[in-house]
Amino acid sequence: MQTEFLIIGQGISGTFLSYYLQKAGRSFVVIDNNDNNSASRIAAGIINPVTGRRMVTVWMADEILPFAWKAYHEIGHDLGITAISHRNIIDFFPNPFMRENFLKRTEEGNEYTRAFPDQEHFRSWFNFEFSCGEINPVYTAHLETLLPAWRQQLTNQQSLWEENFEIAQLRFEAGAIHYKNIKAGNIIFCDGPAGIDNPYFKQLPYALNKGEALMMEIPGLPATHIFKKSLVLAPLQNAGKDIFWVGSNYAWEFDNANPTKEFRETTERVLKEWLKIPFQIIDHRAGLRPATLERRPFVGLHPHYKQAGLLNGMGTKGCSLAPFFAKQLTELLLHGKAITAEADINRFQKILSR
Ligand SMILES: Cc1cc2nc3c(=O)[nH]c(=O)nc-3n(C[C@H](O)[C@H](O)[C@H](O)COP(=O)(O)OP(=O)(O)OC[C@H]3O[C@@H](n4cnc5c(N)ncnc54)[C@H](O)[C@@H]3O)c2cc1C
Repeated sequence: MQTEFLIIGQGISGTFLSYYLQKAGRSFVVIDNNDNNSASRIAAGIINPVTGRRMVTVWMADEILPFAWKAYHEIGHDLGITAISHRNIIDFFPNPFMRENFLKRTEEGNEYTRAFPDQEHFRSWFNFEFSCGEINPVYTAHLETLLPAWRQQLTNQQSLWEENFEIAQLRFEAGAIHYKNIKAGNIIFCDGPAGIDNPYFKQLPYALNKGEALMMEIPGLPATHIFKKSLVLAPLQNAGKDIFWVGSNYAWEFDNANPTKEFRETTERVLKEWLKIPFQIIDHRAGLRPATLERRPFVGLHPHYKQAGLLNGMGTKGCSLAPFFAKQLTELLLHGKAITAEADINRFQKILSR
């Protein structure tokens, strides 16, 4: 069987890459092993323009956020689903230091932050001591709807192989790649954390990060905003009324990718203090973020194995970065256009050529 592109992985990276190739009328096969604990299946989907304790504007926010908004709308429209919503964050300051930081950023003219005008508005649901601010715009990508919908489309058009890709069976030969009975012009790895074991790209400075989340039923809590204190509480619009995603932690050291008792107990304790209304845990999930030491993605073609490409290293921000860099990678593959230098794997040319 002959195809132009073989894509490994149908997380958010492989989804957008295959989407853009399809829009360009190109042929491809996606291989994905349907791992229920992949980062894309656990993520809250939040696209936030500011980050960290100091409320710094995220890398390339002015370009990447509007791009993401448009990209999810477009794919959602094509699939007949809602793939993105605009829902701002209400930031309950956990201490006076965080409040000062937020207000300072706002006074300095940060376009994404403002003091919330009605400080009493959320009193019926939350306990908070140090007032709250609002981050705007914040989007939620509905990966829990988008990934299965795109997967169904791939299945319908017979472009999906649901199985484990075995790299030992990959061969590079005369400007093409061969895998089982597939011959393709390029293989593009969108394999997330599994990338650390990929012999062609494993020299890259990955720094995987484990995160956990609880799915909660919280009857009566408004689904109008995402709420943040030390935790984030985000409505899961397609999981049903009153269902919220609650998370997360960032563990750089871990023995395995399983949910932990510690996270569940801590989260439950924090929620009991923060929420005034009852809640019930309905699920507990954990997964690995494909993070990188420099906190920039890995995008581009291998300097030596020119038929092998990579769209990975999305870290904590895959929902916004993946559509943008999937589009850039498509432009590189089809028209030879350059990738943003800070994301281009060419910056590791020497390491990858060893
Ligand atoms: C708890 C948590 C919360 C998060 N919240 C957010 C958030 O709110 N906003 C945000 O922007 N980001 C968030 N992230 C990060 C985000 O999930 C990732 O950046 C993003 O999902 C990475 O997508 P990906 O497609 O590159 O990788 P993945 O989602 O890991 O997808 C890789 C795919 O490849 C498949 N695969 C791998 N190896 C093979 C193989 N050998 N054969 C076949 N298939 C294979 C896997 O099954 C998977 O489907 C969160 C992550 C976690 C863990």
